[in-house]
Parts: sequence; structure tokens; C-alpha cells
Amino acid sequence: MESIDKLKGTFDKKYHEAKGTVSSAVIKRLPRYHRYLGDLLRDGKLRISSAELSELMEVTASQIRQDLNCFGGFGQQGYGYNIRYLYTKISELLGVSEGYNAVIIGAGNLGKALAATHMFERRGVTRLGMFDINPELVGKKIYGTPVYHIDTLPDFCKRNNVHIGVLTVPKESAANITDTLYEAGVMGVWNFANMELRSPSPDMIVENIHLGDSLMTLCYKLKSRSKEEKPRE
Ligand code: NAD
Repeated sequence: MESIDKLKGTFDKKYHEAKGTVSSAVIKRLPRYHRYLGDLLRDGKLRISSAELSELMEVTASQIRQDLNCFGGFGQQGYGYNIRYLYTKISELLGVSEGYNAVIIGAGNLGKALAATHMFERRGVTRLGMFDINPELVGKKIYGTPVYHIDTLPDFCKRNNVHIGVLTVPKESAANITDTLYEAGVMGVWNFANMELRSPSPDMIVENIHLGDSLMTLCYKLKSRSKEEKPRE
């Protein structure tokens, strides 16, 4: 059996060749691999076969091999996948180890709900603060995160090397705040305000999130299934 070091060497070479050339379809699937592998690691598992991973993730083994082969293939016959190694490399590729800083703008229901989760830390993103226009919220801490006045946002972003702005404000304010973030050097926006936010510049990356769309997809599937069901005799 090839040693793990040799396997890593092959991987590292292909990984560096593949960086930047991996298709967006594969990139979209990587967070899911990251999530499952993270759970396996937390459960103390060190290796997994593609068949096991396939059953767990409900993805075909061939899809898994194809995806992971984009980076030179981490699997080895008779050994399976080295979970920690795979997890680390996928983390690197996804920027988890880049040390990004984020601020949440809008400390209302959704902002608070996001602040309550481990979503940021688990992905290597540090939540530095929250911003709101409401004076009753300013000066408070929400799940340990301080709330500052929105007027202080540009200065805070410049001084603290903020990379990501999370928008949980009413949609009417989203575009203006995005411009402010861009001028303050923030290059990523995770937009929850219910609208398709357009980036003010090609340098800035905007990710629009619509939880409601996902719920509607579920409703559609339920509706379609109930129509397909034959009436019971
Ligand atoms: P909310 O009213 O509870 O909170 C909004 C907060 O934004 C308030 O604290 C308010 O003071 C603050 N705010 C308003 N204008 C501001 C400004 N100019 N600068 C800074 N802060 C400002 O609302 P919510 O339920 O938390 O929803 C927030 C946003 O998220 C809304 O746009 C809502 O439609 C959207 N939303 C999106 C999804 C999704 O899946 N994308 C899901 C739920 C809610």
C-alpha cells in the first residue's frame, strides 16, 4: 500500500494544479462534503470508504470519486479516504483558513438568530460586531457580540479589516449599506434582505440568500407528490 505521505504528495501537486480550475458545480458541492466530514471528525472517525460516504451523503460513489478526483483524488484502494486530510484540504480550498472577519448589519430577529449560531466560527469566520440604527440596541451585546451604531460602520470596517458584511436589514436599506461597505473596503456581502442585491463593483462579491425560496420548493414538491398519489380505494 502506498504511504499516506506519498498520497499527500500526489494530492498536493494536483491540488495546486487544480486550484482555480475546479468547476463551479463542484465548488457548490464542496461545503456539503465539508459539513459531513466535519461531523465525522467530531465523531472520532479517521477514514471512510467512498461507498460509506456515498450512503451517508446520498450521492453516488462515482460522483464522490469524480468530485474528489478534481483535486487529485484523496482515496486509496483498501484504505478509503483520510477524513482529516480531506477536511483540511477542502477547508483550505473554501477559504476557511483565510481568517475572514464579518459584521452583521441589522440586529433584529434574523440578525440575532444568526448571531446565536456557531455558523461563523465553524467556517473560520470571526464575527466582530453587529450594527443597527436603533439606539435601544446600540451598546448591548447579543450572544457576546457588541452592537454598534450604523454611523460607525465605515470607520469600524476600515480599522478592523472586515471582509464580509451580513445584511439582515429591511430591503430598502440594503443597497445603501452595501455601497458604504464597498467604500470601506469590504469585498463580500452575505445578503439576507429580501431582494436580489447587485454588486456595486465587479470587485465585490454578493451572495443573495432566500430561505423562503427553499420553503417554497418544499411546498411545490409536497404539492406535486400529493397530485401523483392515487386516491385510496
Ligand atoms: P427586524 O425588523 O426584526 O430587524 C431589522 C433590523 O434592522 C432592526 O433591528 C432595525 O433597527 C435594523 N435597521 C433598519 N434599518 C437599518 C439601517 N439603515 N441600518 C442599520 N440597521 C437598520 O427584521 P428581521 O425579521 O430580522 O428581517 C431582517 C431582514 O431579513 C428583512 O429584510 C427580512 O425581509 C429579511 N429576511 C430574509 C430572509 C431570507 O431568507 N433571506 C428570512 C427572514 C427575513
